[in-house]
Amino acid sequence: MLRNNLRLLIIGYSDTDADLLSSELANVNSEFSYECIRDVLDIRSALYASDLDAIISNHDLTSFNYKDALDALKISGRDIPFIVYSDNADEKEALSAIHSGAHDFVHKGNTIRLALSIERELKNVSMRRAKVQAETQSYRSAYFDPLTNLPKRNLFCEQVTEILSKKTDANSIAAVYFITFDRLPYINSTYGFSSGDALIQQLSYRLSVYASRSCLLTRVEGGKFAFFNDDVTDSEDIQHFASRIMRLTSTPFIINNLEFYIKLNVGICVYPVDGESASNLLANAENTLPGTRALFRTNYKYYIKDVGEDSSKRIKLETSLRNAIINNELLLHYQPIVDVQEGNITGVEALVRWNHPEFGLLMPDKFLPLAHETGFIVDIGKWVLREACINAKLWQESGHDSLSVAVNISAIELDQTRLINHVSEYLTEADLSPDLLTLEVTESVLVQDAETSIRMLQGLKELGVKIIVDKFGEGYSSISNLKRLPIDGIKIEHSFIRDIVKDPDNLGIIQAIIALSRSLDLPVMAAGIETKEQFDFLCEEQCTSAQGYLFSKPVNNENLSLLLGHRKTGTMA
Ligand code: C2E
Ligand code: MG
Repeated sequence: MLRNNLRLLIIGYSDTDADLLSSELANVNSEFSYECIRDVLDIRSALYASDLDAIISNHDLTSFNYKDALDALKISGRDIPFIVYSDNADEKEALSAIHSGAHDFVHKGNTIRLALSIERELKNVSMRRAKVQAETQSYRSAYFDPLTNLPKRNLFCEQVTEILSKKTDANSIAAVYFITFDRLPYINSTYGFSSGDALIQQLSYRLSVYASRSCLLTRVEGGKFAFFNDDVTDSEDIQHFASRIMRLTSTPFIINNLEFYIKLNVGICVYPVDGESASNLLANAENTLPGTRALFRTNYKYYIKDVGEDSSKRIKLETSLRNAIINNELLLHYQPIVDVQEGNITGVEALVRWNHPEFGLLMPDKFLPLAHETGFIVDIGKWVLREACINAKLWQESGHDSLSVAVNISAIELDQTRLINHVSEYLTEADLSPDLLTLEVTESVLVQDAETSIRMLQGLKELGVKIIVDKFGEGYSSISNLKRLPIDGIKIEHSFIRDIVKDPDNLGIIQAIIALSRSLDLPVMAAGIETKEQFDFLCEEQCTSAQGYLFSKPVNNENLSLLLGHRKTGTMA
């Protein structure tokens, strides 16, 4: 009759009586195990420690009162059938036991009725549990997002409303941060929804590190999240938290062994000035989004630039960029770097191009912003580095022993410690002396996170490669910054050179940059030299090397060989 493998707790009986009870129950044709306990403290521990199906309690006015055990069961919060099995035939006592919370009261000796009672109560318990589970599930699905387990918008708003209702200090503020990212539709359509879901989950884990009782987080929908932060007291706090959110995506998300970079947009709204209710604050924070992109930008301030003609071209580019490396569509052009004193070519800068099957030869400005947005820049960068090392070795073998090659390194690449491994791997593979490889790192990148950049540059320098700061003069660096960087030179930004002769401001800036570099013993290269006038000026100012259309435009490998041949018989300038 009783179901098998029951675990019973028999309480308040002597060992002999418990054995007797168990053998009577065994006669009712069931398999069960039991534990016999008399002491209330032991009952408490058994309730927490054991898996129990039912409790059978003695009630004996002189030696054991079931009520203490029943109280212990209530305190434990467990839903376990509690049946009093007693000699006491008093109906009043039975009623009192039921009122106190016992599930049944059976007179001792009536084993079949006891077994039936246990059976019935077990069914009741499983019905109660199913009900609680269903209620919990419907509560969860109403209030929690199944993908991220984060509160949904409705629960978030309820919680925010509660916190706001308790605010008594009129000067107290709070901030709502509405967070979105741009790449979700692209990732869903290109890599599938499971990748999009994985990205949302990973982002939610990262965001969750800041969630607390006073800093609530919700997934509003899709790739939209929001924080309500009650821990802010002034605008500095508010901005600081926004920066912390932004930094959460400075490392890539790894999904199916692919690296994804995303850029967060954060719209901020402050209680009570920008809204007084939860839904109002959330809506206003979302509405501020387009305007905040420039204000609160991530380390990676790349946006998909308009690649020209029309948006369908851009969509085609997006989808074909993934295969550009596999299909061998990338190529390098090399632009000579000339020694100002000697006039000979001492090195070249490798500049990537994309030979698109439909659009022809594309210059970096047409596809690198997109590559940054999608994270493909890492693969493109690796390809460029490897190709440049292999070619530098070939030039060396054909007699240009000391011709160095410079490769541009993007912000995202510089953020990856793996860059050091890649550089080392490609140098070894090509058997190229490290001092023939120069890495060009843009000034703006170094300024954004100087400490990390310095560590990274030091790691690279230990390999023996040279590092120069590219596009110097964009206006970010301070002199003290330059001093701290382990660099071998700087390259002055094109735009300063362009108007050098006409614009006295530019002239002054260049003179200052050169003087500064000299004081730090750093060679200066001037880029973008197009006229003899510009070159003469830079010679006078003692620039070390120069690069520009005056000497040569970037050329393919074949034309570079011709230029290098030319070098043997004459000078470039
Ligand atoms: P950059 O590093 O400043 O490279 C020099 C750019 O200036 C090249 O443009 C070159 O063609 C152009 N240039 C050189 N001399 C002159 C001149 O006398 N006058 C004018 N008007 N322009 C001149 P390009 O090849 O279009 O490259 C543009 C930028 O794209 C590069 O600027 C660099 O930031 C980026 N880039 C190119 N290749 C790579 C690459 O392999 N990896 C990364 N991360 N970035 C790259
Ligand atoms: Mg460069």
